[in-house]
Order: sequence, then C-alpha cells, then structure tokens
Amino acid sequence: MADMIPFIDLAAQRARIRERLDANVAKVMESGAYVLGPEVRELEERLAAFSDAPHALACANGTDALALPLMAWGLKPTDAVFVPSFTFASTAEVVPWLGANPVFVDIDPDTYCMDPAKLEAAIAAIKAEGRLNPVAVIAVDLFGQPADYRAISRIARAHGLKLIADSAQGFGCTLDGKHPIEWADVATISFYPAKPLGCYGDGGAMLVRDEALLKTLKSLHVHGMGVDRYEYDRIGMNSRLDTLQAAILLAKMDVFADEIEARNAAADRYAEGFGDLVKVPAVIEGGVSVWAQYTIEVDDREGFRKALAERGVPTAVYYPKPLHTHAPYARYPHGPDGLGVTEAAAERVVSLPMDGYLDGERQTRVIEAVRAALS
Ligand SMILES: *Cc1c(COP(=O)(O)O)cnc(C)c1O
Repeated sequence: MADMIPFIDLAAQRARIRERLDANVAKVMESGAYVLGPEVRELEERLAAFSDAPHALACANGTDALALPLMAWGLKPTDAVFVPSFTFASTAEVVPWLGANPVFVDIDPDTYCMDPAKLEAAIAAIKAEGRLNPVAVIAVDLFGQPADYRAISRIARAHGLKLIADSAQGFGCTLDGKHPIEWADVATISFYPAKPLGCYGDGGAMLVRDEALLKTLKSLHVHGMGVDRYEYDRIGMNSRLDTLQAAILLAKMDVFADEIEARNAAADRYAEGFGDLVKVPAVIEGGVSVWAQYTIEVDDREGFRKALAERGVPTAVYYPKPLHTHAPYARYPHGPDGLGVTEAAAERVVSLPMDGYLDGERQTRVIEAVRAALS
C-alpha cells in the first residue's frame, strides 16, 4: 500500500507561519496573562472586523458558542429549536442541555444545508400541534458553505424566532458578499484544529449583533459574573478561550483570507479533474464556501474508499448516521415530510482531502485515484 497523504496538511501551514506562531506563543508564556490576556481581546476585534460583525466574544469551544446564546435567551422545557439532523452532534446537543427540544429539519439535496421550505413546514406543524413553542432556528454552514440565509432569516423573522448561524465549519464563508452574521442574531465559530480556522486545541467564538445580548454572554461565559468579579447576576459557566490559543489564532488570521482563496482554487481543480465522472459539490447561488470539506456522492462508498486508500488517499465520511437515528435523539420530533434527503445523503457522501495547501503532486494523486476508482 502507498504512503498516505495527509487528509488535512496542518504541517504545511505550520511551516509557513512558524516564526509568527512561535513568537506569539513565547510572548504569552513570558507575560503570564494566561486567561483573558490582551490577545483574546485582539482576536475578538480581528474576528469582528473580518466578518463585519458588530461584536465578537471568544469562548472555550464551538459547542459552548451555541449553548451560551440559548442560555441567554432562557430556553424553557416546552420550547422548540429547529436544527438540521445532517450535522455534528453539537448543533442539536445544546438544546436538551437546557431542557428544551430540538426539532429536526431536512436538508437541500445539493448543498446539504437546511431546506427553507422544510423549515417552514416544520414550524407550521409544531405550531398546529400546540405542544411545543417555537423559539429559535440553528442553521448550519455545512462543509463550509453558507446556509440559505436569505430565505431562512425571512422565515425566522416572520415567526418571531431567533436565528443562530452555526458557522463552526463555515467561518469566512459569504452569501451575496456578506457573512452569515448579516442575517443571524449570533454566528458561532469553532477553532477545533481541523476546522478551516483552527487553533492547537479547543476554542470557539460568537459573533453578535445586539449589544445587550453581548453583555449577557460576557457575564454567562465567566460564571454569570456581575459588575464585580465575585458578584453573580445569573447562573453561568466557565467558557473562556485560552490566551495561548488566541495568540496562535492571531498568527493564523494573517494567512486566513489567502487560505480561503487557495481552498477555492483547489475545489475548482477537483471539479475540473473529475467533474465528468461524479457530481461535484454545489454551492448556493451567490455563495462562497471555505471548503471545510470537499464532499462528493458515490454509489459504492466502501469500495470507493478502499480503492483510494490503496493509492494512499485518505477519505472521511461526514456524517455516516444522521443525528435523529442515534438513540439519545430519536425521541425528538422532525418536520412533517420526514428526513428522507438527510438519510439518502448520509448513505452516499464521502469527503476528500482539502486544506489551504492542496496543490501539485498531492492533489494530482487524489484526482487520479478518484478517476481510477470511478471509471
Ligand atoms: C465542530 C462543530 C461544532 C462544535 O465545535 P467544537 O469546537 O468541537 O465544540 C458545532 N457545529 C458544527 C457544525 C461543527 O462542525
């Protein structure tokens, strides 16, 4: 068997920015400001500026970034939050954390993001049933592309629902030249190492429109702290971003826009390389993806993955089982037409190597392996 190429080449990025990374890390270690040091504030400013967000607040991970606004809004046990099932666990998990109910909504078969028509139908069904009270929607920028915020935000507004953009995989993506926070109350980011903007551990952030909400989130992420440090206004949690991770992310922010361009160029080369043999991923009209994953669909997934592995090309499956099929989530409701598109996609999707350093011989190897497996 051939040597495996990396699925995500974090070493290539490290080699490019090694000096800045090492200098930033050394500075924090010398400073001693390991928690809420100045780098955290600086990163928040950079994140807000990058995405035209009024405010940004860093936190411990992308899951807490979803939970904190839901805490701020005071979710109740009879509340419903509309989420896709074709996503990472976090998107739905945070809702029962707070005692409320996720309602699963089916996806668009081309973009894999929440289908606005299915959202509309799910809201209508929940309202007609009258048992649960719709309060929020969490749309996911799956695989790095923006959800259909033009339609989803219109529906959310019409029904008086809050909107979170789960941009854990999608920070940096745009729709009509604008970032998801343009339409959402909160957009969330994960800095898990494999995400497009990853740190060297766990990290997350929230982009926020409303200043009053920002204040509540700031308090919640440090134990519900009031004006004085040991005075508590509410029940909170501990969800700060380490200063060291902020310092690492500041170095990575310097090359992030460039990496997004490189990811798009790599996606174009994939489409040219095997678009005649397989349906290549579709991006929503007016959208720019950050390509957290490059995902295609094949009939014989196990055979395809085996053939690529034999040529040293790793693959991954996101997600082999939709959330609603896992036991802890099976009791929650879904939209009236079921989740057929989600279930069909989960059987067929497979993701190929992708990062901001994918070109030359490494990408050629992937393209040749895909062509050999499919022809
Ligand atoms: C990774 C991810 C998260 C959670 O991020 P963590 O930083 O790992 O907590 C949430 N939602 C989606 C869609 C993700 O891919």
